[in-house]
Amino acid sequence: MNRVKEFRKLNQKIKNCRQCALWKTRKNVVPGEGPVNTKIIILGQAPGSKENKIGKPFIGRAGQFLNQLLKIAKIDRKKVFITSPIKCFPPKNRKPGKKEIVACLSYLKKQIEIINPKKFILLGEVAFSVFFPKEKLKNFRGKWIEKDGKEFFITYHPAAGLRFPKIKKILERDFKNFSKIL
Ligand code: URA
Repeated sequence: MNRVKEFRKLNQKIKNCRQCALWKTRKNVVPGEGPVNTKIIILGQAPGSKENKIGKPFIGRAGQFLNQLLKIAKIDRKKVFITSPIKCFPPKNRKPGKKEIVACLSYLKKQIEIINPKKFILLGEVAFSVFFPKEKLKNFRGKWIEKDGKEFFITYHPAAGLRFPKIKKILERDFKNFSKIL
């Protein structure tokens, strides 16, 4: 099966998922968005309420801020794959639980297997802990880490930047530095 077909089939599977209780309260599953033949995956946390309504990742306020950050880094949003470890909206925008993350993880793994990207941008604790469960984000923020032949850039989640002006500045700086390396 070719990659595009395989990816489409996976999307369908994700959309029908009932592996955890979030299927009962979701409106739309948010599998992710972007081309299969990209070199970069950007990972957030979980869909917010706007993403839940529409079925696309990062289209709310955090998404608008992410768009600004991508501009700073000179990354074309249409050329990267954007998703989250959790594909369904956790009610009241709460942080996803460990069980929910574990239940959803096989989808992210399969997405990574099909896309086979070189680089990841990990936004916030949840995305970071999926790959580096024993580490602390604050020790790696603003840095690249290599693991299993892939490169990971670690930074905060854009939603944290909307809440805290200090974090907003750090995010802007991280994405500016980042543009020099890409
Ligand atoms: N925050 C995320 O982590 N993902 C989205 O899709 C939207 C907001």
